[in-house]
Amino acid sequence: MAGERAAAGTAGDGQIERAAVAAAEAFRDYSRRSADERASFLCGIADGIEQLGDALLECVVGETALPAARVANERARTCMQLRMFADAVSLGDWSEERIEPADLTRQPPRPRLRSVLRPLGPVAVFGASNFPLAFSVAGGDTAAALAVGCPVIVKTHPAHPRTSELVGGAIHAAVSKCGLPPGVFSLLSDGCYEAGVALVQHPAVKAGAFTGSGQGGMALWRAAQARPDPIPFFAEMGSVNPVFLFSDAIGAGADSLATGLHTSMTLGVGQFCTQPGLIFIVDDESGRDFLQKLAALVSATPPGTMLTAPICATYRRSAGERRAIEGVRVLAEVTSPGMQAGATLFATDVQTYLSRPALAEEVFGPSSLVVLCKTEADFERCALRLPGQLTATVWTLAAIQGACADLLWQLEQKAGRLVLNGFPTGVEVNAAMMHGGPFPATTDSRFTSVGTRSLLRFVRPVAYQGEFS
Ligand code: NAP
Repeated sequence: MAGERAAAGTAGDGQIERAAVAAAEAFRDYSRRSADERASFLCGIADGIEQLGDALLECVVGETALPAARVANERARTCMQLRMFADAVSLGDWSEERIEPADLTRQPPRPRLRSVLRPLGPVAVFGASNFPLAFSVAGGDTAAALAVGCPVIVKTHPAHPRTSELVGGAIHAAVSKCGLPPGVFSLLSDGCYEAGVALVQHPAVKAGAFTGSGQGGMALWRAAQARPDPIPFFAEMGSVNPVFLFSDAIGAGADSLATGLHTSMTLGVGQFCTQPGLIFIVDDESGRDFLQKLAALVSATPPGTMLTAPICATYRRSAGERRAIEGVRVLAEVTSPGMQAGATLFATDVQTYLSRPALAEEVFGPSSLVVLCKTEADFERCALRLPGQLTATVWTLAAIQGACADLLWQLEQKAGRLVLNGFPTGVEVNAAMMHGGPFPATTDSRFTSVGTRSLLRFVRPVAYQGEFS
């Protein structure tokens, strides 16, 4: 497959070279534009995306099979994100300048130090298949890099080529309207794996951002680290998003909990990196009753069309592998034809879960595994064995410092966002959001790829010592 794609690719046709050289040239100018100029560029992109009107929405629906209402929401989120980053840049509140005054009376004299955050340089962005607008050509990565003064080269995702062209056109139009150098933004289409690697390894590229599979994220991260001058490569590679349901919470509202969890599990045919794929409950009467309710909801879920045929094939294969594991049983299953995926609910006992690390791996789609624990004390043991996560959820009536304090501490070591009595899907874009987490959820747990803190991925501190007289 990679070979076939390479034959149709662009790695050798000069597209990458032209884009990278133009980005490096543009950096000299764009990085020195004022915050207000960058902010009005971001707002111009948002205006341009909105002006594409229904043609854009119809194109996205046609290419992705996502429902029209979801696509309209995603467009609104994308434009809101661009404008929010524009505001953050104008206000300057995302980065603070630090000044230590000189002290010439001290021995030895202390010089004045002023440190500022400066853009890294051209950024390579890899569009995601599951957010054709909000995590693609003009998505969060592009918006964050442009906001801080970095030119962007986007490698489009092959699942939505026409959408990418339309949005890319809106960005090019904003570049012209704002009088910016053309190399500030480039779109690479008709890609292949080799083109992605070549882009990340181009000497003019100074950082990369990616949302997608662990395999793709790690291949590109390795390429970035194998350069003579390694660069930061921020890959968000999804996670299984464990949910711990204490018996008191189940007792207080099993019906609404089952409904909420089912919605979160099957939303968007389960194609979210925050989909709750692992649920821990105690194997007692109320736990089993809850499970029956959840299984009934899963059985009644209509199948949904997945984003691409390979994603659907991977879902079927992964669900099949899970089914074949001794000690795992199917509680509810919906069969489906073609590119449609049916929801599946699996269950296992705590010993099987602890002895099979594969059960903590993501099955991308509408599938979850319930682990039946002997007591709530098992929750912490299970949490200890989790790989890094984007989110971890705890449902309990207890106070945060109460019975689950140790579990929460353990989950802090594992996840970037802890959800208390809520559901992990639905990632707000704001100043407090953390969408990231320890490896393998991402390649750098110190940063978020959503919200205004995501701008910090594409800057580095520079200190000025002393003053010109
Ligand atoms: P993907 O396969 O990771 O592809 C994303 C991008 O990475 C594409 O541009 C792809 O290149 C590139 N890429 C993939 N493997 C590569 C490699 N070995 N070397 C260089 N570049 C590589 O993601 P996808 O196509 O969207 O879906 C596949 C799976 O990814 C899903 O089944 C799911 O498990 C996971 N996924 C996770 C998330 C998440 O939120 N973290 C989102 C979507 C999908 P091409 O353009 O040449 O294809």
